[in-house]
Amino acid sequence: MAYFGSLNLLKKGMIMLIASIFALEGFVILNCSTLGSFNPPEIKLPDPQPWPSVACSEIELERLHNAYKSNGIEHEIIAKRIQQADQALKNDLEFPPEGGQHNQWYQCDKCQIALKTVDDTHHICPKCNTVYSGYPYDNVIYSRKHSRLTNDMYACAWAYAITNETKYAQRVRDTLVGYAERYMSYPYHSANMGKKTDKPSASGGHVFEQTLNEASWMHQVCTAYDLVRKSDVFSESDHRAISDDLLMKVYENIAKHKAGKSNWQTYHNSAFMYIGGVLNKVELIRQALEDKENGFYFQMNVSVLPGGMWYENSWGYHFYTLGAVQQIIETARRLGIDLYSIPQVKEMYMVAMDYQMADGTLPRFGDSTTMRIPGWAYESAYHKWKDPLFLSVLPQSPTWDSILYGRKEFKKDSAKEIEFKSMLKEGAGYAILQSNGEKGRSSAVLVFSPFGGFHGHFDKLSFVYYAMNKELGYDPGRAVSQAYRLPIHRDWYRATISHNTVLVDRKSQGESDGTNEFFFTNSEISYASAYTDKAYPGILHRRLLILRPSFLVVADVLKANDDKDHIFDWMYHNLGEEISSSAVKKSDKAIEGQGFEYISDQKTGISNDLIRATIMTGKDRVEVIVNAEENSAILTGFGAGESILHKVPLIFVTRNGKEARFSAVIEPVIVDNDSQIENISFVDNETDGYLITVQLKDGSEEIYAYDPEKRSRLVKGIKTNSGLLCLRRERSGDYAILSD
Ligand SMILES: [Zn+2]
Ligand SMILES: [Zn+2]
Repeated sequence: MAYFGSLNLLKKGMIMLIASIFALEGFVILNCSTLGSFNPPEIKLPDPQPWPSVACSEIELERLHNAYKSNGIEHEIIAKRIQQADQALKNDLEFPPEGGQHNQWYQCDKCQIALKTVDDTHHICPKCNTVYSGYPYDNVIYSRKHSRLTNDMYACAWAYAITNETKYAQRVRDTLVGYAERYMSYPYHSANMGKKTDKPSASGGHVFEQTLNEASWMHQVCTAYDLVRKSDVFSESDHRAISDDLLMKVYENIAKHKAGKSNWQTYHNSAFMYIGGVLNKVELIRQALEDKENGFYFQMNVSVLPGGMWYENSWGYHFYTLGAVQQIIETARRLGIDLYSIPQVKEMYMVAMDYQMADGTLPRFGDSTTMRIPGWAYESAYHKWKDPLFLSVLPQSPTWDSILYGRKEFKKDSAKEIEFKSMLKEGAGYAILQSNGEKGRSSAVLVFSPFGGFHGHFDKLSFVYYAMNKELGYDPGRAVSQAYRLPIHRDWYRATISHNTVLVDRKSQGESDGTNEFFFTNSEISYASAYTDKAYPGILHRRLLILRPSFLVVADVLKANDDKDHIFDWMYHNLGEEISSSAVKKSDKAIEGQGFEYISDQKTGISNDLIRATIMTGKDRVEVIVNAEENSAILTGFGAGESILHKVPLIFVTRNGKEARFSAVIEPVIVDNDSQIENISFVDNETDGYLITVQLKDGSEEIYAYDPEKRSRLVKGIKTNSGLLCLRRERSGDYAILSD
């Protein structure tokens, strides 16, 4: 018990710390510590208990019935679920001998790569051909079998609700009673247990290895039970067993693991809603919503950043958690409790709309994989708010959910398209830069977000870049195979080295955030700058990102205040197949530093001149041009992308000393067009601040006069006190102001 006590204390401390950080930086406290105008209702359940209670409402079930009776596509969608149920009845109801294990074990330790299944008890590494067998590998397969049994049961439950045929209800009953008989006799285990003799943690379970998984399992289990519980296939003792030996035992197992501020606890709360709703136990609903340090109100207060992004700073986890939020608010709605007026709820749906990049995806921050806004996730939100913006992401033809919610609007013309514009997201810590030029859209994002915790990365002042309808400047997110426990996760994916920022002394940053300095946008130019002095103790790093319609400019100033020399690696990763530069040649000398072992095909060189590298991406290419400086060291090679086998070109430029400066142009070039960039330089302005100058091949020139201290100064005869004055001069003529 002491363990839990201290854990909770620690969490409380962290929440206070976070609150004080917000206070320090002048965020509106109200925004992150209240539920706006929401008045928590008195929690009571409808009497008598309605049927269905948690699966759907009576009218929603009627819509499904009507669709099944109709002709055409809506009928086919419902009929398909019934076909799935018929298929399920052909599968044996065979329970695995034990609970499932986490996919993180399904990897070859030596090769850090996902295993391939030979059969239930043999699992092979595709690289070194080692065959693995027994615990925990077999249990990863058990996990999949438990999921299949559950999917089969779920399909049968809906088939019964629509056709009223007993054979489907019977399968649901047999599955539920089968789990009730086994749940407690499956050994308790947790995700950390690589061996059966390892000590289990409080986050484990019986059917699955995590309270998180058992909690999300409850959606299908309780929905299935709800849909068939009125059928006469159940005896009194069946109902008792399902309630006492399965659902309440799962509840107790989850409830013992109080996970506080987390996506886990949000799924726990969702499970309490389902179990409480189907068993008509109001105290579980109260716990799900009102628990002061774990409940849904608490989560919305502390886990949603100002603006609506989930605090873990990863779109994968944002939408993952939104799934549980949706289950909670929809289950509540069906039980007569309205939670939709909690402002954070709608913000969570809205926020991703602002982050859509030029290629239609969302940036892969934190432990995320590539994703677009998942349209299917917006059906219940559209049902509630009828926001035409949601229509633009919803599926354009009927689906199970569109039928259930009675949506009739499918045409794009009733939708409101997402507006692509540059935006500063101060609370979440992102500056989104968007441009819509002759050559199409381009997007860049500068990251200065608060540290995202377990799923956050050491990525401060990094950026991503999209143009030519492609992802270019790359953040790998996490390995697609969820390699959380492997060194590559710690030393590459989560580490600073895999991000487009500046590495200091070859080590990852500490847990930190950054602070925005400037942000500006018009149709010609968008820029943002930020600094951090917390990522590396004693180092002040300032970064400026300028998005122009046909290129991106990145400028950095780093200063050490400890009077010591440091190594500064400016890093850029760009999706593509090849990288070439005349400044480097093949090198066998390994570079020491966290994560450098994951860089293959290393080529190095030293240069006093302008540095150019070309990255091929399909038929197109990207030119990376970095300003000249004495003794710059250059490294090119390939880092890891979706997996260790996915090679992503990279270029690092290294400068040493008590301070360092970098300025670079990233220029996308379509097919065999010529690069427009002649030169980029970084010098002190005659009075104060810096001048970053980009010379173009047509003789024109752009000057970005940067002074973070915004001193009054003269730039090319123009007086300014702006943090950034952007000027452009055609081949001949005067400087014109792009922004001030
Ligand atoms: Zn292997
Ligand atoms: Zn990352």
